[in-house]
Parts: sequence; structure tokens; C-alpha cells
Amino acid sequence: MATIWMEPTKRIALIAHDHCKADLLDWARFNRATLAQHDLYATGTTGALLQRELGLTIQCFLSGPLGGDQQVGAAIAEGRLDFVIFFWDPLEPQPHDVDVKALLRIAVVYNVPIACNRASADFLLSSPLMAASYPRQLRIESLANASGRE
Ligand code: PGA
Repeated sequence: MATIWMEPTKRIALIAHDHCKADLLDWARFNRATLAQHDLYATGTTGALLQRELGLTIQCFLSGPLGGDQQVGAAIAEGRLDFVIFFWDPLEPQPHDVDVKALLRIAVVYNVPIACNRASADFLLSSPLMAASYPRQLRIESLANASGRE
């Protein structure tokens, strides 16, 4: 076992597929004050929407279908992200299905908290652990080197 420490300020990626964007926006509006306490990242279109509608400061990756999901996955692998809210659409095929699957997989590999629907996002964001340091355990010893926070 190896450990990556998550700081009280989490580095959160926000992603929503097109038919789920309204739901994520509504959720983020309700939780704006909490989200604003953390470092926020998002795929391109989701990030632009959240910045415009909620005035949150968000570092945007590319749009999901153009590589944004892969960038989020790479950031997790490199220890630059430690939390994901991903409202993926269970009712529509996506042109970048393989990227979506890869991101879900890498989040599990790195034991990153990931909420894929609104109830999960509510439970995660209201956890007392959101304001605490947390030792994220990795099953694979060599992955500990990936931590961006030594
Ligand atoms: P978008 O990407 O925020 O650029 O729409 C989301 C996705 O499809 O993964």
C-alpha cells in the first residue's frame, strides 16, 4: 500500500455530458459556496458554462470529445487532480465512449473519489472529509510516485 495525501483544499474536476449539463449546473449552483473553497477544473464546455453562470474560477481542459476526458485522466495519473464529479449520460452513446471508460478506470486505479450522479455528488460534497486531509491509499506501491504533493 502507498499513500497520496489529499489536502483540505481538493482539486476537483467537473464534467457533464450534454444532456446532463443542466443537472450539473443546478447542483453546482446549490453548492456554489462549498465548491468555491476548492480548486476547480472542468472539461471545456462544462467549465465555460459553470464560469459564465456561476462566476466560479475554473481551469478548463479541452472539450471532452476533443481530448478533455483524457486530459482529466492524465491529471489524475500525474497527481494533479484528486476528486471528480462526472455526470456522464447513461442514456446516450457518446462519440468518445472509450475516453469516458478510460477516465472512469483511471479514477478507480488511483482511488479518486468520483460521483457519477447527483445523489452521489451530494453525499461526497457533504462529507466531513471534504474539509480534512485524507490519506488516499493506493494498492500499487509504484503509483505513490505519481503524487503531485510529495
Ligand atoms: P464538455 O465535455 O464539458 O466539453 O462538454 C464533457 C464530456 O463530454 O466529457
